[in-house]
Amino acid sequence: MRTKIVAGNWKMNNDSLATSALLQELKRMNQISKARMIVAPAYTQLAQAVNLLKDSSIEVAAQNMNAEVSGAFTGEVSASMIKGVGVSIVIIGHSERRSLYSETDKVLTEKVALALHENMEVIFCFGEELSHRKSGQHFEVVSHQLKTALFDLDASLWKKIILAYEPVWAIGTGETASPKQAQEIHAHIRSLIHQKFGESVSSSLSILYGGSVKPNNAKEIFSQPDVDGGLIGGASLNANEFMAIVNAI
Ligand code: PEP
Repeated sequence: MRTKIVAGNWKMNNDSLATSALLQELKRMNQISKARMIVAPAYTQLAQAVNLLKDSSIEVAAQNMNAEVSGAFTGEVSASMIKGVGVSIVIIGHSERRSLYSETDKVLTEKVALALHENMEVIFCFGEELSHRKSGQHFEVVSHQLKTALFDLDASLWKKIILAYEPVWAIGTGETASPKQAQEIHAHIRSLIHQKFGESVSSSLSILYGGSVKPNNAKEIFSQPDVDGGLIGGASLNANEFMAIVNAI
């Protein structure tokens, strides 16, 4: 059985007070969930989140990291700094990082390699833009993103990878891939991994869907055979909504 995961990407939201309030509420509501539950606050709130969640099964991830080990990179944060505050999961390749901060496949490949070298778990995001979907190029685009960043990895490292397919046109737009569209592309992704790395990697790999997942659509999306949970943006900022999504697994 593959691990089910629901991760909340808080983006640049929630100061200390809001972090504390949201996490206390999630802790109170999180009885026995069937999914691994992960939250990704801003860098400045990581240590606080780790501390608040130390007696809880809710895990903490960073939203990003730099591709370099250390050095003259003003304003940046390294993998070892993130590990140093007790966080060993990192989101890499979010579409906002790709589009707003020009993160290329090359940089993302370096980030993945460094995170794995630091023994971190990587939530690797990828997905096509609306123009690709409209022109029927989405399978090709997604294959290219995956192959460039992840196909040179040793098969043994895949136990540290979680994939998050996030069609850019569905992120923060209120528009979601239909359950059928999600299943079709998740099955394609799993078959690419199967061809390259074999059955044991592909059958145990968690592939999350992200893009306007809400309490009212989560169940149908999560019930698709190749969808193993979700990466949630907007709805992860509200405890009731996030828990409803976690409980939709
Ligand atoms: C995201 O940012 O990864 C995301 C899926 O956002 P939203 O759920 O708001 O579309």
